[in-house]
Amino acid sequence: MKPPYCVGLTGGFGCGKSTVAELFSTLGAGIVDTDAISHALTAAGGAALPDLFAAFGDAYRQADGALDRRRMREKVFADAGARRALEAILHPRIRAQAARQIAMSNAPYVLLVVPLLIESGHYADLLDRILVVDCEPGQQLQRAMHRDGMSEAQARAVLAAQASRSARLALADDVIDNSGARGDLAEKVRQLHDRYLELAKKSC
Ligand code: ADP
Repeated sequence: MKPPYCVGLTGGFGCGKSTVAELFSTLGAGIVDTDAISHALTAAGGAALPDLFAAFGDAYRQADGALDRRRMREKVFADAGARRALEAILHPRIRAQAARQIAMSNAPYVLLVVPLLIESGHYADLLDRILVVDCEPGQQLQRAMHRDGMSEAQARAVLAAQASRSARLALADDVIDNSGARGDLAEKVRQLHDRYLELAKKSC
């Protein structure tokens, strides 16, 4: 059976991906979230843990058995080799689990939320279309700092490690401009939802 029509949802750190995904979900879109899959794989009992501890050592095991994600984040931020090793363990598993969840969905279409969609190149064959949530870089910093309690320097470092705004927009089929008020989002999401329902119907 053909998998459901699938739209990749991405955007820079703090641009509003989760906020937008939540609005689509209330309209009936299926949501597959690669961050949630990554969390599950590295939570206590997670399927990626044996390989991760074999590669990085038990120093990265928390008392509850889960991966110490904060320590791992600090490690890979400073060490490109460790980042590649982590990605080699996690990415194929995240992708496989995402493909399973998409295939199992009963929704009329699925939004696959991938924060680093543009950077990773792992998802192109699962996607019919790419939706980018966009806002001004200054807003991105303010929103991310406010949400995560980060310093400006920390937030800037995360942004600097991501693809540029122009690189993301260049690959977008659709863009949601989230530089306005949060209340402006619902109507933009509803219009795109109607369009995706149509496209999904045509692709059957
Ligand atoms: P992402 O998932 O892309 O990192 P979020 O959806 O978590 O971004 O949004 C980042 C933060 O900004 C959240 O705290 C969210 O509530 C807030 N936010 C989202 N859209 C707006 C908006 N239009 N105006 C003000 N704050 C917003």
